[in-house]
Amino acid sequence: MEWEIVMGLEVHVELATKTKIFCSCTTEFGGAPNTHCCPVCTGMPGTLPVLNRKVLEYAVRAGLALNCEINRYNKFDRKNYFYPDLPKAYQISQLYLPFAHDGRVTVEYEQEKLVEVEKNGKIVKEKQTEIVRKDIGIHEIHMEEDAGKLIHSKTKNQSYPDYNRCGVPLIEIVSEPDFRRSEEVIAYLNKLRSTLEYLGISDCRMEEGSMRADVNLSVRPKGSDKFGTRTEMKNINSLKAIERAIAYEAKRQIEILESGGEIIQETRRWDENRDKTFSMRSKENANDYRYFPEPDIPPISITEAEIDHYNSIRPEFAEEKAVRYQSEFGLTKKDAEIIVASKHLAKLFEDVVAKCGDAAETRYWMMSQVLYFMNERNIRPEDIKLSADKFAQFIGIVKAGRINRQIGKTVFENMFFGDDSFDVEAYIKENDLEQVDDSSLIEETVKKVIAANPKAVEQYKSGQKKITGFFIGQVMKTLGGKANPGVVGKAVNEELAKL
Ligand code: ADP
Ligand code: MG
Ligand code: ZN
Repeated sequence: MEWEIVMGLEVHVELATKTKIFCSCTTEFGGAPNTHCCPVCTGMPGTLPVLNRKVLEYAVRAGLALNCEINRYNKFDRKNYFYPDLPKAYQISQLYLPFAHDGRVTVEYEQEKLVEVEKNGKIVKEKQTEIVRKDIGIHEIHMEEDAGKLIHSKTKNQSYPDYNRCGVPLIEIVSEPDFRRSEEVIAYLNKLRSTLEYLGISDCRMEEGSMRADVNLSVRPKGSDKFGTRTEMKNINSLKAIERAIAYEAKRQIEILESGGEIIQETRRWDENRDKTFSMRSKENANDYRYFPEPDIPPISITEAEIDHYNSIRPEFAEEKAVRYQSEFGLTKKDAEIIVASKHLAKLFEDVVAKCGDAAETRYWMMSQVLYFMNERNIRPEDIKLSADKFAQFIGIVKAGRINRQIGKTVFENMFFGDDSFDVEAYIKENDLEQVDDSSLIEETVKKVIAANPKAVEQYKSGQKKITGFFIGQVMKTLGGKANPGVVGKAVNEELAKL
């Protein structure tokens, strides 16, 4: 029997406001334990929460960007539960009237497909990649406050509560059960991250917990229109781990069902080190939380003027940028998509193009150097230190023919990893890297190289024209890699033709 996986996601995103959702404590990450809290966010009796306007603004802008209907009238509810990281013993959230509902996100991903093609008169199966687009429904988005953290001692049988994170603003984005493959889940999370990053309302770092995804998963016989019983996986903190957790959990459920067992609706924890999910607790229902309308915060009204304003300050998002990069800068779809995947990278690219006026050169150095170093050394786009000014200055030097492209790579690497004080001009001067254009020097070197390599000359004479590349390489090497490759190529060809 063939099985189909069905998934729905609950994604918590920390909003990048300066202060917490109901008090003026800082939201800054880290800090000594219990130094970023006050009587309000620790829920002392007699305190009163006040909603941070910025939270509402960020939340509504996220809702609009994710194509949601915005509830012009929405309310907070109190979700009661006890846990040591929650000193109030309740979380202020939204259950009955969340601020946004019925949204939609279009995801795009590549999929390999076997297609029948004709080759030399025969029909053969061939692998092709196709781009799949799919709409994922968003059931609702609500605002809520984060809880604190427990730090578990490694040596003693003790845990220490840190309430710094209590009251950090969150939005929870609840999807419809529309996912069928892990590729869709990954594409969706990337899309959410990109959208919220471009809005400037969250940095969405899974590793730091500012974006956290819970995956609800069930399986059903392919073709069935009834959903199976689901489990919810918590604690997954990277895209790679999500892929593995999905594969593991789907297999676990299928094995249980195939051997005649039943799936228990429960919350499971993904254990990164053991590559398995473990049962945490049986699934709680809304009524277990004794939800009731939050009595300390009045209902919220959102005006048409506010919505119009938010729509008017909507940024250019990744897909729109990618389309523009193709038409305005002549980039391929693939290159454009790589650059716009990060707001920071896109900004660097646009700033450099604006300063140097050459999109093709900027693309070249961006793809061959910046992205290469980022992948190789695991550098986040927001951590790139290279300024657009220096990058543009460098391109000017290359375009003026003052250094050749090969030497340019060395210079770029040093500039990329250098600090603020790195001076491109000084570096080129100190290391004597200026391009050698002197054609008489180049011609002389070509003659010497030809004289020193009689074997290669024989090969050339016997018709192996490819050996030309060897001569060019030797001339470049003799001139310390600094020669103008165009002049060298011309000189080598001319000398060889005389043989
Ligand atoms: P709860 O409020 O109890 O967490 P919801 O009905 O709000 O439950 O669903 C939570 C998430 O689980 C949603 O993202 C939803 O799409 C997903 N979901 C619901 N039913 C299933 C199912 N049978 N299989 C997979 N995912 C599901
Ligand atoms: Mg839930
Ligand atoms: Zn506080």
